[in-house]
Amino acid sequence: MISKIKGLAADFKLDNLYKNHSKLLEEADENEPSYKEFLYNILLEESNLKEEKAMKLRIKNSNLPSIKKIEDFDVNFQPEISKKKINILSELDWIDKLFKLIFMGPPGTGKTHMCLALGYKALENGYSVVFTTMNELMYTLKTKDVIKKSKVKYNRIKKAQLLLLDEVGYTPVTRDEANLFFQLIAELDEKIAMVITSNKGFGEWTEFLGDQALATAVLDRLSFRCEIFNLTGSSYRLEHRNSLF
Ligand code: ADP
Ligand code: MG
Repeated sequence: MISKIKGLAADFKLDNLYKNHSKLLEEADENEPSYKEFLYNILLEESNLKEEKAMKLRIKNSNLPSIKKIEDFDVNFQPEISKKKINILSELDWIDKLFKLIFMGPPGTGKTHMCLALGYKALENGYSVVFTTMNELMYTLKTKDVIKKSKVKYNRIKKAQLLLLDEVGYTPVTRDEANLFFQLIAELDEKIAMVITSNKGFGEWTEFLGDQALATAVLDRLSFRCEIFNLTGSSYRLEHRNSLF
């Protein structure tokens, strides 16, 4: 009987039951739970394990460079982002509504922190998320037809529910790159939510994209259903600098 239970647990990929069947039976002998409780706990544990595994896979596929939590964002340090805004953003309705959130501002003001933290929150809630920097995105778009890894990344971006695009505007792009960027934005338009960070205001995007018409077309798409956060102040890094002495 036990070996049959083990076999069936393996067939249905019930990992906990497969590994711990004897322990579960011993515990039941000792604690005498009701039949209902016994079944429920077994199913619940399997369900938790499955979600844990799925979350790990979502994190891996998202390419998040590090984990930041929204709860760790100090709203006192950044007046543009109130506790109320944090709460609304944490509800993630903006993902279903395909909003673009754009965090702009000087270095160290928390743009990437917000981007990563919102991405993590989305992953926790089951959304598929992909992180990339603008530089990496350019590389991906230019090489997607010749490098397998780029193709995989490109396909992930197209299938994701949320794109995290960090560091737009830091390095100038060539005309071809600006075109590829526009094509992607047009392709993803109204299909995916985005969080974008930039050290440049929209006014400076024309210069960075190198072409007025192209910049207008990009901004036209980005600014529909979009929320802009102008982060200000001094660098959190500098203010919280760790010193050896
Ligand atoms: P940038 O705007 O340059 O992307 P980051 O988001 O990378 O800045 O912030 C730099 C560092 O400071 C990170 O470690 C980030 O977690 C931290 N940080 C920035 N702003 C805040 C904040 N308001 N509360 C807590 N940590 C912050
Ligand atoms: Mg940053």
